[in-house]
Amino acid sequence: MSKQYNEVVRVYEDCLDLNGRGDFVRCTDCGLLQLIQIGGTSCGCDICQSENLQWYTDETGNEIQEITITELEQMGFIIEDCVIPMF
Ligand SMILES: [Zn+2]
Repeated sequence: MSKQYNEVVRVYEDCLDLNGRGDFVRCTDCGLLQLIQIGGTSCGCDICQSENLQWYTDETGNEIQEITITELEQMGFIIEDCVIPMF
């Protein structure tokens, strides 16, 4: 088992594909790590709705782009589910 990350990732579960896969990004305005809809362009946090998103990079500088919830959990990330109400 490699490094454990222990960082909170907000996961917009309803926006992910059937395998729980999404885009793994960090908002450069509010700093929130999040797993959003693939191709999504804006921070899901209600406050900033920023479009300044960056791919997550690990400590060796590798970009992690698409990833699944399961893979995040295996890496030690703390999953914070955020369910967006359907209208
Ligand atoms: Zn944000």
